Amino acid sequence: CGIFGVYGVTDAANFVALGLHALQHRGQEAGGIVAHHPDHGFNSARRFGYVRDNFTRQSLMETLPGPLSIGHVRYSTAGGKTPVIRDVQPFFGEFAMGGAAIAHNGNITNADALRKELVERGSIFQSNSDSECIIHLMARSLQRTIPERMEDALRRVEGAFSIVAMTRSKLIGVRDPLGVRPLVLGQVGDGWVLSSETCALDIIGAKYVREIEPGEMVVINGNGVESHHPFRPQKPRFCIFEHVYFSRPDSIIGGQSVYETRRQIGIELAKESPVDADLVCPVPDSGTPAAIGYSHESGIPYAMGIIRNQYMGRTFIEPTEQIRNMGVRLKLNVNRALIEGKRVILVDDSVVRGTTSRKIKEMILDAGAKEVHFRIASPPTAWPCFYGVDTPNREKLLAATMSEDEMRDHLAVDSLKFISLDGLYRAVGEAKGRDKSCPQYCDACFSGDYPVEPSDQIEKGFEL
Ligand code: 5GP
Ligand code: SF4
Ligand code: MG
Repeated sequence: CGIFGVYGVTDAANFVALGLHALQHRGQEAGGIVAHHPDHGFNSARRFGYVRDNFTRQSLMETLPGPLSIGHVRYSTAGGKTPVIRDVQPFFGEFAMGGAAIAHNGNITNADALRKELVERGSIFQSNSDSECIIHLMARSLQRTIPERMEDALRRVEGAFSIVAMTRSKLIGVRDPLGVRPLVLGQVGDGWVLSSETCALDIIGAKYVREIEPGEMVVINGNGVESHHPFRPQKPRFCIFEHVYFSRPDSIIGGQSVYETRRQIGIELAKESPVDADLVCPVPDSGTPAAIGYSHESGIPYAMGIIRNQYMGRTFIEPTEQIRNMGVRLKLNVNRALIEGKRVILVDDSVVRGTTSRKIKEMILDAGAKEVHFRIASPPTAWPCFYGVDTPNREKLLAATMSEDEMRDHLAVDSLKFISLDGLYRAVGEAKGRDKSCPQYCDACFSGDYPVEPSDQIEKGFEL
């Protein structure tokens, strides 16, 4: 999901709509905005579909006045379920000291247990979302202020959370102690901005200030930014997959350009797994920077062998298998004139179910390619993510049951190679690779090493 908040500008909701539009790649199912105006109080709008189709209408934006606003773009991690509007964030709660709205990116790994406890004690849930627990925990806290109640609530929550929240007069940002999901601070005029990624600061002309630190809570009002550290400090474990796929390539994470990191992944991949061929082609758009790096390192020409229809979204986001299957063809087409008779290296960011790779291989062979070699910019995805990225159950992950060679045979390609975990760490700037005793990132979907025990899943029978 993507989260965005603005404090201290006229009609903040307009800025939020633009910010969410720049974060649309983080969630395409639905979006929501809450705003507060001193005379008109809290107002909100939640809609299915793209930000640009909903939040550009003047009639809707006029219902969201005020200098303080937050928003959320949703990407459902509860795969398969029919989306319902009451699951769309931000969530709102009315407390004795006033209202608060919150937008959450990540996933709470003990949400089932918390919900059960809260429901037994009388909480009335409005949604199916794990994030709603935070509002109910806040309602039960005995603290005096909303930020203090939020601290109280979040100390009971396990898993990954980056949060943008607001009261009548404050904008609040929080990251979980491991800092699994991103959150950055910016400045626009006299106002302040919180955003999942820096690319959404650029769109409103905001200046990047810094990242919110893992375990940090910032409370922003007319006096500026106040920083709190409500959790026991831990060694950070940022999601390495943000570098590989999730973030936009024009964003900066930890001072590093995401584009440059992906290009480095391609360079590492070419060093680890060279192959003789005529062309290096990306699977657009997510494989593009890595393909540029692979071509650079190998000296094999880069070419756009697959053309993407710009009017389709991310196929992975489509919740059903059938639509996903169709999706590949609706979105990608082979540039036949270029491919015919050639030995082609295809670079993609990841293989999850293998749906994309299988379809693309068929399309490339139909177009007359002589050989097809896959190079993947992440290690095999063998484990589900429980921290906010939508991966299917373990059984559906190709790499959970097959070795690299078995996957190659299953996909019927001439070769298939994934970057090693150490190679990926080198590409993100860890010269010595992955520190086994104390990994620098979360890489659970590749390693099975979960930095936070997924307790709800274990309760349901998931085996580590
Ligand atoms: P597969 O077709 O193997 O199931 O999925 C791999 C494709 O989906 C890749 O091309 C990749 O760009 C995309 N993808 C991989 N992981 C994710 C994810 O967590 N979310 C989204 N939206 N797309 C993903
Ligand atoms: Fe990121 Fe993978 Fe960890 Fe999920 S399991 S947070 S996708 S690295
Ligand atoms: Mg892709």
